[in-house]
Amino acid sequence: MSDVFTVAPEEVSPERDAVLALLGIPAGTQLGDRIERLYTHALGVLGETIAPRGLIAEIEGGAFDAVYAGDGKNAPETPVALVAPRAEHRALFAVTLGEPLSRAVAECFTGADFALGYTLDAMASVAADAAAAVAERRFARTLRERGWATADGAVLRYSPGYCGWDITGQRRLFAALQPGAIGLTLNDSCLMQPLKSVSGVLLAGPRTIHKFPPTFDCCARCAERTCRDRLATLFAGAAH
Ligand code: SF4
Repeated sequence: MSDVFTVAPEEVSPERDAVLALLGIPAGTQLGDRIERLYTHALGVLGETIAPRGLIAEIEGGAFDAVYAGDGKNAPETPVALVAPRAEHRALFAVTLGEPLSRAVAECFTGADFALGYTLDAMASVAADAAAAVAERRFARTLRERGWATADGAVLRYSPGYCGWDITGQRRLFAALQPGAIGLTLNDSCLMQPLKSVSGVLLAGPRTIHKFPPTFDCCARCAERTCRDRLATLFAGAAH
């Protein structure tokens, strides 16, 4: 199965508190008039430039193992190495918000409009994450339509550059997925262009396969600890 899709901009509308958090502003803060106008301006630019697209391609376990091995630079123990062998289905994926939005962010900085640039960049990061969540839901729906009936089944995403999966893993992932179909390329530093994009693997199985203690070597250097929020959401019943 290989699935190219577009995403309605409303589906990735950035959640306000998540944007504020990236800007270092506590959730629920009442913004002053000037900052509120800046926020509204950034939302307008986002709406004019965003063009989310995605690609999902199912992959067999052995083929994924070869993708995951990458250039041999992964940490010895990682969440993906633990979860992938227990997954019932897996797919490579990539989503992007499109080149015009990334260009708009870059133009803010080259034009020294840093306030707008930082705000728009934060909104785009939250929207890109929302687009990746769309890919999770889409793969789960496809599997269920095909008869996947695992009780408590859940699909979660894992990406190169995080949790011990070395960023150079993007090379084999791109070679296998071919996300040029949605306008994505990889540069020599393994950064995606457009920048506001997410790629990785979608792993499907009983939700318990995604549960692990954050005790890998990489966890000692991890400030974000995003796995805690993901697990909390998963076991609160909001899984896909
Ligand atoms: S603590 Fe950080 S590095 Fe460790 S699994 Fe969680 S998100 Fe990944």
